[in-house]
Formats: sequence, structure tokens, C-alpha cells
Amino acid sequence: MESQIKHIHQQLVTKQITCTALVQEKLALLKENTHHSVNSLLDEMALTLAKKVDAKIANGEEIGLLEGIPFGIKDVYMVQGTYTTASSNILKNYKSAYTATAIQKLLDAGAIPLVKENCDSFGHGSSSENTIFGAVKNAIDTNLVAGGSSGGSAVNVAKDYTVFSIGGDTGGSIRQPAGYNNIYGLKPTYGRISRFGLMAYASSTDCVGPLAKSIEDIRIVLNVMSGKDTKDQTTIASTEIDEEAISNNTVKTVGYFKNFIDNKAIDPKIKADFLATIEKIKAKGIAIKALDFFDSETLVSTYYTLAMAETASNLSRLDGTNYGSRIEGENLKDTYSITRSENFSEESKRRIVGGNQVLSQGFSDEIYLKGLNLRDQISANFEKDFEEVDIILSPVTPNTPPKIGDSLKDPLAMYLSDAYTVGFSLGQLPTLTVPQGTATGLQITAAKNNEQTILQFANFLKDTI
Ligand code: GLN
Repeated sequence: MESQIKHIHQQLVTKQITCTALVQEKLALLKENTHHSVNSLLDEMALTLAKKVDAKIANGEEIGLLEGIPFGIKDVYMVQGTYTTASSNILKNYKSAYTATAIQKLLDAGAIPLVKENCDSFGHGSSSENTIFGAVKNAIDTNLVAGGSSGGSAVNVAKDYTVFSIGGDTGGSIRQPAGYNNIYGLKPTYGRISRFGLMAYASSTDCVGPLAKSIEDIRIVLNVMSGKDTKDQTTIASTEIDEEAISNNTVKTVGYFKNFIDNKAIDPKIKADFLATIEKIKAKGIAIKALDFFDSETLVSTYYTLAMAETASNLSRLDGTNYGSRIEGENLKDTYSITRSENFSEESKRRIVGGNQVLSQGFSDEIYLKGLNLRDQISANFEKDFEEVDIILSPVTPNTPPKIGDSLKDPLAMYLSDAYTVGFSLGQLPTLTVPQGTATGLQITAAKNNEQTILQFANFLKDTI
């Protein structure tokens, strides 16, 4: 698939279509909400912006590449004056007071926001069923889950309801739904894109990233959103990636984790397809190196220990006082507890209780500090790996998407389904899901700040397998 952004840009400047008609068409599709991908429509804002683009074109003025391009926003980003619900009851009526930096950059470039997209509440989940807006349906088979937590964003892109969408990835939430719906989804290096205005889940691994149908669109959107931000002290400087730089492959050695593939939980077809891909890459003269890594249980428990601790801390502000639907109790303490017990989902409560347990006196040394220590070991392991290989290739998920309703019965199985994505999050590495290789795609990971190598290799894979 070629760049849709460039294609639409061309159609706009040559007056084959108007921006208003384009936006109207997409809004009409989203309004149907056939896949439960929509939490709220930004129709008024979108149509006002579209008119401005049309007026510019009619005046003979030049427009930028992203000007007039319709996009979607996971419902965890602040956009001033719009509902930002995190698909939760507690913030069902919350309206953003300001706009997230990443979204502001897109607005400044002229892109048009259409929709706040359904997701797992506060990013808690891997299926987009943990939401008050109804389980998101998979774009390819509506009986299956869309994946999560950025399920609505992935489905909207896959169905062409948006040209690209902005998801959030803490432990796989962009990459996994991208894989489940056969599109591209990038989790950039931690800090490459500002988190200011993204509702915090686990601050040490939260990342902003794009979902799209082409590598080129991922590149364009990544460039616009990247950069240091005084409002997020963890942001890092990065250089723009140009189209030329990703057209020729320079990757010489590809690594893969033996234990991901030998794992007994992997679907035999995903395993066979992954190994066949490795063979095709080898046949192109690229060296392959099997690597050792931590086992799935260690990765998943380290991630969930830290993610739960951080989310318990981040969500403590939602007590019905400054934010959120308040339910009055007999006294203040009572009000807090009723508000939080009634308004958080079962899954979010499980994580808040688990996180507070992990952080509490008597447990924190044994559990939380151990988690931090393991995370350091995981990062050190990656550093060693990237001395030997240029990229690491892995499946996105051990299995194909489950039926809607099935995963809610077994939270532990759901956590384990994140086995292949969470390690890269703990390492704060850039990782891209490409819709190739296995039924749920492949993940291409590089060392920190090496998004260029990833996009380059993705282009190579597109032509190779
Ligand atoms: N499924 C993982 C979790 O529930 C990842 C979610 C995410 O990246 N937001 O924590």
C-alpha cells in the first residue's frame, strides 16, 4: 500500500476532491459505529477545519502535506474542549482543558481530527473489551476482538474510516491491535514523542505512536510528532527521517529470540510462518542470529508489577474531587471510596489494588524493587544484543485474536498474551508492527533512537516476503 497521505494530498491540490466532502464521507462512516470504534465524533471541529483547507485551495494557496488529512485519536489524549473519557465511567463526562503536545503538532500541520476512539479503559487491556462503549470488533472478523488497548484506532485505520490514528503503547497497545487488524503500528523510542496531554497509565513506558496502512505514512506522522517538549522532561532530541534514507536496506544481521519461538504457548502456524520468514531473509544474504532472552513469565510479571504500581499511583488523582464523576458518601473518605469503587472497571480495580500492594511497606522491597532490578537486567540484555545484531525480529503475539467475550474470563491468560510486546516496552526501544510474516504480523525492533533502521527494514520486508 502506498502512502494514503500523499495520495489524498494530490487529490486535494488537483481539486479532484474537496476536503469537506472527504471529511463528511469519513464522518458518515464513523457515525454508523459498526465496530464500536467510536467514543465521540469531533464533527463540528472537523468540518470547520475542512472548510478552511478548501478556502485555501480555492485561493490558490499552497497546502502542507498533512493539511486536510483526516485522523483519529485514541480517547486518552487531551484535545481542548472535547470529551476525554479513557473509555471509563469515572471520566465519562470529562472534557479536556488543554491539548496534548503530539496532537497539537498534528493540528498545527493542518491534519483534521475526526474522532475520539474506543480503547481499553486507561489502557488496561489487550482486547478493547474493558470499555464502557462496548467491545471493539475486529476489522477482519467481527466475531473476534480488535486487540488492545488501542483497538478502536487500529480498526478505524483498517476500515479506512481514518487515514491514520494516534494510539498509545505502554506494553503493546499499538503493536498488538495493529497486528490483529493487519496494519502498521509504531511504538517509538520512549521520549521521542511528548507524553504531555496523554492520560498517564505507566509513565515509565507510556509512548505515543501512529497506526497507518503504509510505512511512508508512519514516517510522515512520526516526524511531525517527534521532538523535545519543555512540558515533558523525559523527551529526547531526534532527527527527521527522510524518505530517501529508508529506501535502501542496510541491515546485515537480524536477531530473534529462541525462547519466543520454542515457547509452548505459541500457535504452531505462527511459529512455522515466523521461521519461514527467517529463511526468506536468510536467502537474501542477511545473517541470522538466535538470541537468548528472559522467559515469558519473567517478562510479563516484571511488566505487570511495574505497570500496576505506576497506574495505581497515577490514578490516585481520580477521586471525584478535581476530576471524575463524584458519588457522595457519608463523609469524605466514604465519598472517595464509593466514587472509586463504583466508577472504575473490574480490570482497573484489579490493577489499582495490585499496584498498591506492590508499593506497600513490607512488599515493596521484595516485589517492586525486584521488578526495577529485572528491568535493568532486561535493558542490559538488549544493549548486549544490539552490539551483535542490527534489528530483532519477533512475532507480535503468540496466538491469533480470541473471540469477543473469551478473554475476560481469564485475566492471567490475557496478561500472558502480551509476552512478546512488553519486553521491548521495558527496554524503552522502538518497535514497529508490520502486517506480514504471521497471521498477526511481525515486530521489528532496533536500538534506541533507531527508528530509521526499522522503517528501512520494513520497506525491505515489504518487497521480500
Ligand atoms: N495489554 C497491556 C496492558 O494491559 C498493554 C496495554 C498498553 O500498552 N496500554 O497493560
